[in-house]
Amino acid sequence: MAAPKDPSPSAQAPAKPRAPNAQQLALQRLGLRTDWDLVLHLPLRHEDETRIEGLAHAHDGQTLQFEGTVTHSEVSLRPRRQLRVTVLDAADGRSSCVLRFMHFYPQHQKTLAVGELVRVRGELRVGLWGREMVHPTFKPASAPLPQGLTPVYPSGAGLSQAYLRKAVAGALQRALDERRWQDTLTPEIASQIGLQRFFDLRKALLFLHHPSPDSAAVLQGDRDHPAWQRLKLEELLAQQLSQQVARRERARSRAPVLVGVAVQGHDAPLADALLAALPFGLTGAQTRVSAEIAADLARPVPMHRLLQGDVGAGKTVVAALAACRCMDAGWQCALMAPTEILAQQHFAKLVGWLAPLLAQRGLTVAWLTGSQKKKAREAMAAQVASGQAGLVVGTHALIQDSVQFARLGLAVIDEQHRFGVAQRLALRSKLDGAAQADGAQEPHLLMMTATPIPRTLAMSHLADLDVSTLDELPPGRTPIVTRVVSDERREEVVQRIAAQVAQGRQVYWVCPLIQESEAAQNASQSPSASDDGRKLALQDLRNVTDTHAELCDALPGVGVGLLHSRLPPAEKQAVMDAFARGELSVLVSTTVIEVGVDVPNASLMVIDHAERFGLSQLHQLRGRVGRGAAASACVLLYTAPLSPTGRERLKAMAQTHDGFEIARIDLALRGPGEFLGARQSGEAMLRFADLATDEDLLEQARHAAPLMLDRYPEAAQAHLQRWLGARAEFLKA
Ligand code: ADP
Ligand code: MG
Repeated sequence: MAAPKDPSPSAQAPAKPRAPNAQQLALQRLGLRTDWDLVLHLPLRHEDETRIEGLAHAHDGQTLQFEGTVTHSEVSLRPRRQLRVTVLDAADGRSSCVLRFMHFYPQHQKTLAVGELVRVRGELRVGLWGREMVHPTFKPASAPLPQGLTPVYPSGAGLSQAYLRKAVAGALQRALDERRWQDTLTPEIASQIGLQRFFDLRKALLFLHHPSPDSAAVLQGDRDHPAWQRLKLEELLAQQLSQQVARRERARSRAPVLVGVAVQGHDAPLADALLAALPFGLTGAQTRVSAEIAADLARPVPMHRLLQGDVGAGKTVVAALAACRCMDAGWQCALMAPTEILAQQHFAKLVGWLAPLLAQRGLTVAWLTGSQKKKAREAMAAQVASGQAGLVVGTHALIQDSVQFARLGLAVIDEQHRFGVAQRLALRSKLDGAAQADGAQEPHLLMMTATPIPRTLAMSHLADLDVSTLDELPPGRTPIVTRVVSDERREEVVQRIAAQVAQGRQVYWVCPLIQESEAAQNASQSPSASDDGRKLALQDLRNVTDTHAELCDALPGVGVGLLHSRLPPAEKQAVMDAFARGELSVLVSTTVIEVGVDVPNASLMVIDHAERFGLSQLHQLRGRVGRGAAASACVLLYTAPLSPTGRERLKAMAQTHDGFEIARIDLALRGPGEFLGARQSGEAMLRFADLATDEDLLEQARHAAPLMLDRYPEAAQAHLQRWLGARAEFLKA
């Protein structure tokens, strides 16, 4: 059977070529540009306008539609200018209702003139003065009664339901025109690629917009309905196809083969030298994962691997070993971290491990950040450009245009979910200079995350990645006791801090970002906006500085440091260094310490307003303690009253230390945004399928996608185009 060529000729074209009016602009703001966009803009609910009811038995607050004759109409000026119209119910000829309009036009008065027979729909108020409707909708009773339910669409400012309805109806007609409609997933294709029998898509869409009146109950929130199932499968299939395409494209592109070559005078490769120099042996998981990475690096195809491992699992040394392999082969490695503090820590650690070994080979470790003085940065950039820097550590500064690599072979991105697609692409395109000459190549890419990716998420959004997991913590870690404590017992907590400090231990106190929503969104577009990827709102600043003052007062003679993203980088660094050296005993901070901070002497983590954090975030924060030999604890301070789910979540936190279990709960409670972060901005998220409930469909789509690409490439392309359009490109990153 020939595969469909063009799913719906008009589907990708803008609805109207003329200059857009206000309503059209409002449509565009909702992201509704093409017919297909409109077709997928599903109703929130439906209104039943098929029936005419009587006023007599209607109750206060009821929304109803009735017909009647206008008996009175006047514009009164008090209490304010308004049109008051009395309508006598045609059903019984006795009950009447007053319609009130604060906004009205002459045309309205004409339709509602005395003697006219009208159909009115609105919410009834029954008060002392009788029945009343404020701003009901109305039309001449001669208008035909709708046959089906009336859809109510999610709308936005400046966009009327009437306009939206018309736009969607027009789009449905054009895109789903029976004579031209092409299914990309015909029953034949579906059965050939192992999909179960599914509802017809065209019928499903028509049904979801315009169900018959008796199916309304089925529709109310019932996403198991076959029409919904079909839509979800379509969406999941598009996602799987796009990831498969990306995977296949990558398999065709080339990357340098990073296998150590024997360098005269250095019998041991760098990786071996590093292993010999480390003060500890690798865990089994580290050895296994390093081997997986080494195997990838030895292939002429770009690696695209996600290394996930709980906080403290020891990802840095795995990255260092990969860097060694890269440098052994004569290439450069870049390591990019989302915050300056984290980059600094990596740099310090890697210099400690590698600088002596690299010096013997005439190589250096370079350091690049935004806060660097121009001169220092230029000196570093020169080392990077000349190839003298074997390893380059830094923040987003690494991907600036001015930074040229001589031979970038491997890019490592720590806390990858903190970066955007554009930034990852920028790093990938940095394999520059000489290397470009021998054909287009890409560097290998190793992404790291301490947020375990739940299985369904790995299978869906991250399906184009290979995943390695560090599922074993280095030995000698002490278990962390977690307590959920009411804010009313704050004083006891402060005493506990004093006791820890008296024993020479150190303490973190973390305050939440309350007003993070908008700032966090901006940050996902440009994480460079501030150091911890978010802008610190004034209220949050006050919150963290007040807490700092409070603890300074309560703990006289104890060094209490303050850290937040509004501090200048140098000051942040000074505070962090002082804490790391033990000169400060307590560190009050916003979530800047969330990622990567490593101070083994810290034994107590207090998290203020713990109820405001995501579980995975709490888990990461908790992982900052328990790194040394001391018994460690985490106190989750909450402010009463706690919602039942809030209580559940914190209880779960106290009971489990399994990052995967926590991630699973988080996914169910908060959706995938936490995990994907900037990787997938809103547009690319799943709109219909829900990973928590649609695992079966996901499995089906996952198996079907490669088969469809192999056997029905044109249908697969058409499917991708229909579902993702311009976004298809974006998803490949
Ligand atoms: P994360 O996975 O959170 O990035 P790190 O790489 O920062 O973890 O490692 C946490 C701490 O554990 C560091 O101090 C690191 O040097 C240490 N470490 C890593 N691997 C081992 C090991 N195999 N044995 C003992 N300590 C280790
Ligand atoms: Mg780390």
